[in-house]
Parts: sequence; structure tokens; C-alpha cells
Amino acid sequence: MTPRRNEHRDNPEYFTPIYKMALAQFEQAADKLSLDPNLRKRFTDPKRAIMVNIPIRLDDASVEVFHGYRVHHDTTLGPSKGGIRFHPDVNLGEVSALAMWMTWKCALMGLPFGGAKGGVRCDPHALSRNELQRLTRRFTAEIIRFIGPEMDVPAPDIGTNEQIMAWMMDTYSQFKGYSIPGIVTGKPINIGGSLGRTEATGRGVVFCIMEAMRHLKMTPEGKKIVIQGFGNVGANTAQIIDEEGCQVIAVSDVKSGIYNPNGLDIIALRAHVEKTQFVEGFTESEPIGNKDLLELTCDVLVPAALSEQITRDNAERISCKILAEAANGPTTLAADKILQDRGLFLIPDILANAGGVTVSYFEWVQGLQNFFWKEQEINERLREIVCSAFNNVLQLSLTEKVDMRLAALMLSVQKIAKAKLARGLFP
Ligand code: NAD
Repeated sequence: MTPRRNEHRDNPEYFTPIYKMALAQFEQAADKLSLDPNLRKRFTDPKRAIMVNIPIRLDDASVEVFHGYRVHHDTTLGPSKGGIRFHPDVNLGEVSALAMWMTWKCALMGLPFGGAKGGVRCDPHALSRNELQRLTRRFTAEIIRFIGPEMDVPAPDIGTNEQIMAWMMDTYSQFKGYSIPGIVTGKPINIGGSLGRTEATGRGVVFCIMEAMRHLKMTPEGKKIVIQGFGNVGANTAQIIDEEGCQVIAVSDVKSGIYNPNGLDIIALRAHVEKTQFVEGFTESEPIGNKDLLELTCDVLVPAALSEQITRDNAERISCKILAEAANGPTTLAADKILQDRGLFLIPDILANAGGVTVSYFEWVQGLQNFFWKEQEINERLREIVCSAFNNVLQLSLTEKVDMRLAALMLSVQKIAKAKLARGLFP
């Protein structure tokens, strides 16, 4: 007999530690909001998830098959939106958790999007440019029925960049027979990308940190910043916060970290990374391991690399006043509780790193209208949206006496719950 109720929620494909973490965060918000159980069920599993095999010919003429995913968590507010990750750890649970976080993030920023995420399990550094191009194009072809400017709009994430977006846009356009820039965001400016998109996530992180400093009555001048990860988000955060008068004293990447208690020269460091790919070997700095870097005494710690970096094991030793989650899911549930008890001010990922999807929204709108905005206009609109979301979250956290993550989730979940109720349940 077919069960009337879904009692098989232990599907191991989804229920990885990171998906359980995303779900537990949602459930805290749902409990606090006393969310109707009928609505609650509709948020816990993604709307749809697609898994594809991607065969490509490698440069040595052999064929390799990679695994790819695209997950749409929710589309109540509009087309789904979310990045594509190329990384060896990509799996259905991770992509589903990231898609759920995108749903909350878009709602929190007031964007007309639902949440999605995608990824291919591969090591992009081990593939040649041609292999990467074939992988991107075949992946796009395999998921083509599930993406589109009105349906689901990919963007870059870890291991992907504007070149990958250009290949996705070209593949999609070749299938349709005409150019469709609105299919992806984070693409190069010369094919319809937006000014300010590359720096947007870092810029949003810095807007949030400045608002947090204002709330905590701190001034930016000379404040010590530590950043884990020196890719798109980490490097842009470093440069923009340096321009605000702060001192970035340590950064790291997948290989190693560097430290200078008097502050790193970020422009010179970016030039060094441009040339050598890694932060290692930068002059006027000493090496530091990733573990020690996270525990450095500083004013602001910015995890801008992978998830689950601040855990039960190191949360007691995290020594900052503000923790700005530029990465998605860098703090585990157990660590969250410890940091909260210790009184650290945490800016949650769905708020801290939402600058990227906000300028992606601007890019999508500009693409649909074929009317392009000036960079200053983009940065100003970004500031307005990020700062207003920050202050909405802060106000709710103060009135409800909950931490910033729970406040942010409550605002998002409530917004989508209301929209679901207004739309009703089909059929
Ligand atoms: P990226 O690939 O450009 O950079 C990732 C950086 O992290 C690299 O410097 C890499 O060397 C480093 N790294 C990888 N593994 C590491 C490890 N174990 N320890 C220390 N460093 C490590 O990716 P990105 O776009 O900068 O994304 C970083 C994070 O920000 C991710 O969690 C991503 O989901 C999140 N994010 C990105 C955007 C965006 O617009 N790109 C938007 C929102 C959130």
C-alpha cells in the first residue's frame, strides 16, 4: 500500500551533515514562528533535484564521466537563482543545503527569486581549459530543460568564474538559436555582464561589517581583519575593507596562509596571487596554517572559503568581536551555540554574502531590459538593499532577543510562507 504520508525522510542522498544543518536552522526559525505544519513540510525538501552524468573527452582522448547536480529548492517568489560549484566534494546534500540557503537569502534581500544551486564533482585545477570548456558545455546541455531566464538562473560559485558563465550562456544560446544573456549572471561585461558584479559579494560583506561596527560603536580605522579564503569573495572583501581603513593582518587559501600583524599590502598581494595563483611566498609576511589563522586575535574574522570551518572543536578559541560569514555555512550548529554564549556578534551567511545575488539580480534586470546602469548606481543600490536588510535583521534580533541568524531566517521564512499562503496549493 502506498503510504499516505512521507515517512521516508532519511533519504541518504539528501541527508548529509550539511543538509541536516540547513534543515535544523530552518526548523529553529519555523519553531520560533510557530509555522503551520502544512507549510513546514513544503520547505523541508527541494522542489526538484536533477542529477546528471556528464561524459567528456579528456585531452588524452580518453572519456571521463563526471557527476553534476542542479537543485531548485523553492520558486514561490520567482525563478530560482543560485551558483554553480566545481569542487571535488560536491554532492546532492551539499547542493540541496546551498539551494535552501539561496531561498532564504533572496527573500531576505527582497529579490523576486527562489533558491537554487548546482555543481559538478570535479577538481577544476586538474582540468585543462579545453576540458573545462567541454565539461561546462555538456553539463549545461544536460540540465538545459531546467534552466532559463524565467525559470532558473545560474551564477558563479567556488571553482567557477565569468569564463564558465560565458560558456554556459553560449551553449544555452546555441540551443535556442539566438543570444540569451539573461540565462546566467556573473558573465563578462562584454556579453551583458553587470559592472560591479565581480566585487559585489565582497562589497556586501563589507557593508554588513560597517553596519555591525556602527551598532557595536567601533570605528573601522586600524581594526584587524582576518580572512580565510582569497578567491573572488575573500580577495574583494580584503581590498574593499582595506579601503575603509581597516588592516587585513592574515589571509589564506587552499594551500596555506600568510600573516603580518602590521597589515598586508592587499594590492601587492593580489598582484602576487595573479602571478603565482597562491598567497604562499608573499613578501613581508610569515606563513600561518589555516587552523591557527582562524584562531588569531582580531576584530573581524571573515571565513570566505568552505562550509563547516568553525566547529565544536575550535569555537571556544575563535577570538574576534565580529564574525562575518562570507562563505556559505562556515559555522556548524554546535559552534553557533558556543559563539552565541560567548557573545560574539555573528553576521549570518544569508545576509553577509547576499551582495552577490543582489547584483546578480541587477544584472538579470539589465539583461532583460537591455538597458545598462553605471557602476556608481549599482553600488549605491546595493548599499541600500544590504544595509536595509542588515537593519531589519538587527531590529528583529533585538526585539525577539534572538541571534542574528535566527532573526534573518525568521524574516525570510515568514515572507515565503505568506507568499505560499497567498498563492495556495495547486491543484
Ligand atoms: P573561489 O573559488 O573564487 O575562492 C575560494 C577560495 O577559498 C580560494 O582562495 C581557495 O584557495 C580557498 N580555499 C579552498 N579550500 C580552502 C581551505 N580548505 N582552506 C582555506 N581556503 C580554502 O570561490 P568564491 O566565489 O570566492 O566563494 C567563496 C565562498 O563564498 C563560498 O562558500 C561560496 O559559496 C561563497 N559565496 C560566493 C559568492 C560569489 O559571488 N562568488 C556569493 C555568495 C557566497
